[in-house]
Amino acid sequence: MTKKTNSTMKNALEDLLPFVEKPGRYIGGEINAICKDRRLCKASIALAFPDTYEMGMSHLGLQLLYAILNREPDIMAERVYAPWPDMERLMRSHNIPLSSLESGTPLKAFDMIGFSLQYELSFTNILAMLDLGGIPLARRERRDGDPIIAAGGPCAFNPAPMDAFIDVFAIGEGEDVILDMARTIIKAKEKGLSRRRTLEALARIEGLYVPDVHTSADRIKKRIVTDLNACFLSQQPLVPLMKTIHDRIILEIARGCTRGCRFCQAGMVWRPVRERNMDGLENMAEDMLSGSGQDELSLLSLSSGDYSRIEELLSTLMDRYYSRRIALALPSLRVETLTQNLIENIRRVRKTSFTLAPEAGTQRLRNRINKGNTEADLLDTAGRVFDAGWQAIKLYFMIGLPGETDEDIEGIADLAYKVLGQAKKRDQVTVSLSTFVPKAHTPFQWERQIDLEETRAKQNYLKSRLRHRNIEIRWHDHRMSLLEGLFARGDEHLGSLIETAYRLGCRFDGWSDQFRFDLWEEALKVTGIQTSSYLRARDRGETLPWHRIDCGLDEAFLIAEADCAHQEKLTPDCRLSDCQQCGVCDHRTIKTIIAETQDQRQVVISQPTPPEKETASGRTYRLSFTKIGLCRFLSHLDISTTLLRAIARARVPILFSEGFHPHPKISFAFATPVGMESLGEYADIQIAAVIAPPEELRNRINACLPEGVSITVLTSLPPGTPSLAETVQGFSFSVRLPDAYTDDAMDQMAQKIAAFLGAPSFTILRTVKGKETKKEIRSYVNELRLDRADRRLWMELCFGVQGTVRPMDILTQVLGIPQETATGMRTLKEKTFLKAADD
Ligand code: SF4
Repeated sequence: MTKKTNSTMKNALEDLLPFVEKPGRYIGGEINAICKDRRLCKASIALAFPDTYEMGMSHLGLQLLYAILNREPDIMAERVYAPWPDMERLMRSHNIPLSSLESGTPLKAFDMIGFSLQYELSFTNILAMLDLGGIPLARRERRDGDPIIAAGGPCAFNPAPMDAFIDVFAIGEGEDVILDMARTIIKAKEKGLSRRRTLEALARIEGLYVPDVHTSADRIKKRIVTDLNACFLSQQPLVPLMKTIHDRIILEIARGCTRGCRFCQAGMVWRPVRERNMDGLENMAEDMLSGSGQDELSLLSLSSGDYSRIEELLSTLMDRYYSRRIALALPSLRVETLTQNLIENIRRVRKTSFTLAPEAGTQRLRNRINKGNTEADLLDTAGRVFDAGWQAIKLYFMIGLPGETDEDIEGIADLAYKVLGQAKKRDQVTVSLSTFVPKAHTPFQWERQIDLEETRAKQNYLKSRLRHRNIEIRWHDHRMSLLEGLFARGDEHLGSLIETAYRLGCRFDGWSDQFRFDLWEEALKVTGIQTSSYLRARDRGETLPWHRIDCGLDEAFLIAEADCAHQEKLTPDCRLSDCQQCGVCDHRTIKTIIAETQDQRQVVISQPTPPEKETASGRTYRLSFTKIGLCRFLSHLDISTTLLRAIARARVPILFSEGFHPHPKISFAFATPVGMESLGEYADIQIAAVIAPPEELRNRINACLPEGVSITVLTSLPPGTPSLAETVQGFSFSVRLPDAYTDDAMDQMAQKIAAFLGAPSFTILRTVKGKETKKEIRSYVNELRLDRADRRLWMELCFGVQGTVRPMDILTQVLGIPQETATGMRTLKEKTFLKAADD
């Protein structure tokens, strides 16, 4: 491969963007992204998320590490996400290595790459990313000069399946350990240490497991942040330019959960509970909202309703943000935490569907898994939720739980009907089923996992029992659960399975449209791995693959909990009772921290102030703006969101529509397609009051926009000015011809242009929603001109009641340019013609 510099690498990648789905995934340039000068940094770290950009950008952990590392002047941290298969294919065929989003630095050039191990079904993506980055897959094949490959996150609590590929596993919370790692790498570089000696130095850091260095006698203790209040949370969060899975600010209110559900790995490994205090949360919320311009705030923890001051927190945040039309989201709520007050507060911010997780169908089985909520509680909550105005409730259940009988399966159906019994006529109940997967470090780590056949039988039974027009049944793909189960308790032998599946073409295994179970079956056959030997129950005396990982829990506690499960005995939450001796706390530095005990301020729960009624004093402004450079790959919706966020960050008070779902008052002239640049985009916005002269407003908003989107003109409109939709008359475009265009090709093009312009009409075929239609287009074209010297094609197209003609149609149907070539041509909307006020 010829050596490409970072900027040529970025250019080469840019050339591929017109040909991939969602090109906005690869352009970077987010608000608050940090791009440092590599030459001034002593260590470079790529934070890698082995899933799509949209998934990765919704993940708090990676953003935290990014902020923590970049706060250090001598450390550069950049990001990389897994390219979707269409992009991977193109990168391979064009020999373009995987590079960081910020500077386009190839992965191979970083000192360390840190993967986020969130989900077992992203393992093949890690291999794809390493391979695309030009890094040997097997850790044993890496040499001096290759980056150190690190990984952390929940899946690192059983590192065995990925042991062959990862140099360093970070066990536990990453905030402190990531800096220790970076500093060790800097020292190793300064001393000129070999790769082996660097790994040895990393192995001395608490919380790091280095397979090359540690022996099976070594125990690796997880890292823990003792007090979240002292822990840094980025106040300038990364704000994506394109739509992601969760477009909102994440406010982590607490970490850990001691409810003690016996199936739940997160509830075991992230102990103890540490809540942030209210003052800190309020300040963080304000900083992050104003730093990002986002309009939704999500309160995050394993069980948000358990936060000791949740009602006061919600009430305070509602008071402050309801009037600013900032929505609040509480993703994880338990039935028993739902007080009437909380339901009322949530009702003000969300009305879509309400999720409850009974997990099991009978009281007996709920006791067995230590999910002690009663049926009466659940039905009472369901009734109150429906009464409060929700029209749909989602119920989460697991099948295949230890000790499950036919009666428990029947119990799921019964419970679903009983919940429906609380509903009004049109209300819906959705039953969501997943297969129980025993996880390492839980009291159920020794239990068996049911196989595919058994899962199918249980699912089919429930499908037949839940035939009702107001009940919907959904289930997690049981073949994915099977793989999750293999890796969750798998050993080092699974490395060959992962690599074989990867080489056969498995990618994005957690995505149902990409999941190829047939290839996994082939990989199982090739490697001779029997799934039954991984799904089986484990002997308590057996050495488990994760035996060297110490997450703080005493084995005696896990055994006692497993015994309690057999006896169907409940274990109380240590926040509400005595310490249950799980082993995690030393009760001095590591201990439960509750916000209540820290911060005695009284908060009065009040009705939130509704948004002010918009008054006639609002003013309309017309903006003309650009969409150029990499921002041409943003969709119309993305551009609209980007503008609105910039307006919010600039503290320009935009007006909202009235009604149940208020929308900001912004309208656009015409959507410019993804991939097309524009110097002439238009939008009208209405703002609440005149806060500054137009020029100052323009400068304020421009300071908050990403490179490529910039307001060129901002004018105040007199009342009664026609809307943009009534004003647009047409557009002019220029298309840059590729260098490969010969004189002959240009001659032919000139002939076609002359024939077209000389024709009284010209009909093209268009496929709209799968139907072929004909459209006469000649009358829309005012000008079509080839500028040979400048190698550009110019067109001026008019816009009327029947719409207009697309430049792409001119290129392909009038000039006969193949679709593929036309897609790659750089098209610029030069101008949008607006009717003059007196026309
Ligand atoms: S050691 Fe005690 S107080 Fe700490 S998390 Fe475990 S059970 Fe709770």
